[in-house]
Amino acid sequence: MSFFVQFLGTGSALPKENAHPSSQYIFCQNRHFLIDCGEGTQIQLRKYGIKIQKIDAIFISHLHGDHYFGLVGLLSSMHLLGRNKKINIYGPPPLDQIIRSQIEVGGARLDFQIDFHPIDDLFEGLIFEDKVLEVKTFRLKHKIPTHGFIIQEKAKPRHLISDKFKDSGLSIAFIVPFKNSQDVVDETGVIWKYLDFTTASKKSGSYAYCSDTAYSESIIDHIQNVDVLYHEATFTNHYVSRAKTTKHSTAEQAAQIAQLAKAGTLFIGHLSARYDDPKQHILEAQAFFQNVKYAEEGQIFRIC
Ligand SMILES: [Zn+2]
Repeated sequence: MSFFVQFLGTGSALPKENAHPSSQYIFCQNRHFLIDCGEGTQIQLRKYGIKIQKIDAIFISHLHGDHYFGLVGLLSSMHLLGRNKKINIYGPPPLDQIIRSQIEVGGARLDFQIDFHPIDDLFEGLIFEDKVLEVKTFRLKHKIPTHGFIIQEKAKPRHLISDKFKDSGLSIAFIVPFKNSQDVVDETGVIWKYLDFTTASKKSGSYAYCSDTAYSESIIDHIQNVDVLYHEATFTNHYVSRAKTTKHSTAEQAAQIAQLAKAGTLFIGHLSARYDDPKQHILEAQAFFQNVKYAEEGQIFRIC
């Protein structure tokens, strides 16, 4: 699997057994990301055998405690376990000072560098990019500034038809342009077409994370055609007015967003602690979007 999500915590503000606060591990072509880091995230990482020192970047959606109270503990453990590789943290601007204060007040220090990338309240757009993927952020509709994230793989290189290429006697310098869908003109002026020597590349995947938010159609443009969408579904229809006042969503609203965005698969989570199981949420969501699943703790789901 080259791109998957593993749900570490999909509970809401009040943790309970098998409903830890928000956190997800994303693996994409050897990149290791964490989205949100609620209390107990490092225990969950350990439980599921994820190596914490491999984590390259952590994205924090907002500063409600159930989305980041595990962060300083995790950073502290990284230090105790000998980390010297820097880590990138993306989140609301005050988070930088919160982290530093919590560490410094106890006279501690970290032996590795934190590159903090503030996401300003109104910002939407690209926050991370390398040669295989990009991460964009967009505003959610919550009680305090909150951002969602979408991780998208870039177009993958085409496959070389090795035998045909070898038989052609062409220089190996042609391989990279061919794989990148470029024709090549040789020194005699002959045009060599990439389509003759390559086959289509594998599909690129995308994953979007939306927690916490009230129903908001303004996010749809940002997540259009996403392969896998995680959208919070704190309440069932019975509590629709509570969803509105607390700026959370019902399962039905999450499903409406998935339908409008033409998502491939919808995962729901962040269920209020008042529910013992997700049956009613799933039922209500399926009235609008058939391919809905509950984001069960520990579950790994292949994106691409
Ligand atoms: Zn919140």
